[in-house]
Amino acid sequence: MIPISQPAIGEDEIQDVVAVLRSGHLVQGPKVEALEQQFSDWCGVKHAVAVNSGTAALHIALHACGIGPGDEVITTPFTFVATANAILMTGARPVFADIDERTFNVSPESIERALSNKTKAILPVNLFGYPADYRALRAIAERHSLRIVEDAAQSVDAVFDGRKSGNLGDVGCFSFYATKNLMAGEGGMITTNDPDLFERARLFRHHGQSPERRYEYSGLGYNYRMSDVHATIALGQLRRLKQYTEKRREYAALYSDALRDIHGIVLPKESENVSHVFHQYTIRILSNAKLSRDGVQKMLMERGIQSQIYYPKPLFTSLHLRNGALLSEYPTTERMTGEVLSIPVHPALKREDVEYISHILQELLG
Ligand SMILES: *Cc1c(COP(=O)(O)O)cnc(C)c1O
Repeated sequence: MIPISQPAIGEDEIQDVVAVLRSGHLVQGPKVEALEQQFSDWCGVKHAVAVNSGTAALHIALHACGIGPGDEVITTPFTFVATANAILMTGARPVFADIDERTFNVSPESIERALSNKTKAILPVNLFGYPADYRALRAIAERHSLRIVEDAAQSVDAVFDGRKSGNLGDVGCFSFYATKNLMAGEGGMITTNDPDLFERARLFRHHGQSPERRYEYSGLGYNYRMSDVHATIALGQLRRLKQYTEKRREYAALYSDALRDIHGIVLPKESENVSHVFHQYTIRILSNAKLSRDGVQKMLMERGIQSQIYYPKPLFTSLHLRNGALLSEYPTTERMTGEVLSIPVHPALKREDVEYISHILQELLG
């Protein structure tokens, strides 16, 4: 079977991990520090804080921005649940805005409608590796004195207006989960140019304790540290990230070329000021297509091709996130949950796999 995702692990990474195991230094140490240095350079930001998941990164970033009980954070309902759960972790309330059907990202107009006097931050997600509209988002944030926390879990190496993802809001939050474009098995990273946010994030990662003053605690903190073993894997991945991104973009271009004349489907598009990193290659299968979305998924599976529906339900349909949201207020999100299908685009694929998948899709839908 051709899987929807598969980590690409180099022999050099395996050797490096073995060396860390032999060294006996497994916890946060020189490898984590090296990763923070290299990753902040990569994103073009001043500071990076390595943590043990993308969820931890989001929780820390929101906490560092001073978000807490009584506050509202506006986000998208068309994302992985961790985005909204991180808001709940701070005691604040997630408020959902509808999305834009061209990018699947949160719509600035819908954010304007969701604003209240309790709104403290916007939490856009760069879904599938495509940055949200940060020109419009920054204008809203400036007008209403809001923080922007960028959920960059799917968008490492993406570019918007010449700036890398992670450098598009006040804080960037990355995930190094095994399926992500840069992976460490599990892990995450926070990026920022703000020295105060950086300091608060570092403390919150380690029980509120400053590295310079042991057994003095600035407040509640967690154990969100990354191990040197995981940092070593991420360092290896970072060495090949450029190559991996190029592969994803190459495969996406192959799909877009092969599928462009098929009636009843919509392919991903890229604006001039954006570089998409195709965490997913997600097509929309409309009601006038030759076969239904779920029919296509079933037929692909029969031909040995795994595809996925990211995401089948808006987040507010889960009871703990409901907050009185009504499906009818989110027409685009609702429509997208019924149309989207993600097909394999990861760098462990061969060109022949992509050609085979294109060929099958032409056969099913052409
Ligand atoms: C993966 C992901 C997360 C959570 O990251 P973990 O490392 O799994 O905790 C958050 N937001 C989005 C959009 C993600 O894709």
